[in-house]
Amino acid sequence: MRITVVGTGYVGLVTGACLAQVGNQVLCIDIDAEKVARLRAGEIPIHEPDLPEIVRSGIDGGRLHFSTDIAEGVAHGEFLFIAVGTPPEEDGSADLRYVLQVASDIGKHLDQPRIVINKSTVPVGTAEKVRATIQAELDARGAKIAFSVVSNPEFLKEGAAVGDFMKPDRIIVGTDEEAVAQRMRDLYAPFNRNHDRVLVMDIPSAELTKYAANVLLATKISFMNELAGLAERLGADIEHVRIGIGSDPRIGFDFIYPGCGYGGSCFPKDVRALEHTARELGYDAPLIRAVESVNNAQKQVLERKLVEELGADLQGKEIAVWGLAFKPNTDDMREAPSRTLIDGLRRRGATIRAYDPVSMTEAKRIYAKMPEISFCEDPYAACDGADALMICTEWQIFRSPDFADLKRRLRHPLIIDGRNLYDPRLLKAAGLQYRAIGRP
Ligand code: NAD
Repeated sequence: MRITVVGTGYVGLVTGACLAQVGNQVLCIDIDAEKVARLRAGEIPIHEPDLPEIVRSGIDGGRLHFSTDIAEGVAHGEFLFIAVGTPPEEDGSADLRYVLQVASDIGKHLDQPRIVINKSTVPVGTAEKVRATIQAELDARGAKIAFSVVSNPEFLKEGAAVGDFMKPDRIIVGTDEEAVAQRMRDLYAPFNRNHDRVLVMDIPSAELTKYAANVLLATKISFMNELAGLAERLGADIEHVRIGIGSDPRIGFDFIYPGCGYGGSCFPKDVRALEHTARELGYDAPLIRAVESVNNAQKQVLERKLVEELGADLQGKEIAVWGLAFKPNTDDMREAPSRTLIDGLRRRGATIRAYDPVSMTEAKRIYAKMPEISFCEDPYAACDGADALMICTEWQIFRSPDFADLKRRLRHPLIIDGRNLYDPRLLKAAGLQYRAIGRP
């Protein structure tokens, strides 16, 4: 099949590379000429496991191509994916300007029937806006060409994106046209061998499903974080409580880890966008509002615990920070809890010694010209002479460090762990003062 993917970010690049990997002819389009040049050279701009291998295999096999030319893209693909960003506006709503720009570009160049597939996360009603935008461009030049718009939200997780795309839990297809649904089934057949994962539904339901999934996951996290605060005050251990409730199959063990708040490019913006949708409709959605406010408070918890230990004035203090990415296996730092912490530490006058296994390049870009932050080559070096070690991301390599070595290096033997990585008894035995989330 001939497929065009517009937008080569986390979603677009993974979509394009995976579709090429199963034998399709894929053209990926991006307006960022530098990114396209790097991709053509086989250079991957993001950290995502397994992605470099399949991008290079696609390029070498002549199945995966990159261009900045949308006209070429529209001419190439019988399926045209829209996978551009939908960042939050000031008021929390999803900014649709990139999606509608692509729709308008498609309308300008469309000269034969196409299926336009929206993969970006967008509010209910956007497929209709995309359709109307394309139609307006066709009308402006008096062209009569049939096209369909499908909602096909993406559920991949950064850090496991290739595996998720190759073996999806479900493939949501929003369309009212039976023939289009069949063509989508054909397109996804290589990823649907084990059992049928394609769920065809009406377009508004498909659009809402994406928000429902992300907001429910964020709700689980905020609930556990709120409960962790309560456990701390009651002398209970949230880790025991977590296992105690997770063993009920109606609850399950997944996604009930307490921590220092959720971040990333999706949960915060999608919670705000759904909240905005409810507000626009005059529908009271107190639960969704609370998910966000609990998370905003949780992102302050590490700083608050540090202040309780070292005092409010951190002038002259050096703080080691392990983990900058919003979660492991990605270099994505968008809305990461580490950023809230680092901002707080800087405001209080501390200097920061940071380490992350893969986000250092991104962090150096974000914190360029900020002399109060230095970046260390390994996690232990970050602790040299530090007044505390604070952990923001649960990278594997942080899970079993040499505690005796940490104790020797830290000026003040204090670890504040935003991910509950350690057994408090082990740290006590090692002579380290340990504060975690929701644990006595
Ligand atoms: P991203 O910011 O990583 O990438 C977007 C890309 O689109 C950029 O490379 C940008 O240059 C390009 N672009 C913007 N306007 C363009 C235009 N007019 N023509 C061509 N290219 C254009 O975004 P992302 O993280 O891949 O997310 C894309 C969408 O998918 C968002 O709606 C997001 O909510 C959703 N989503 C993201 C994830 C995730 O984990 N990142 C998961 C599921 C869904």
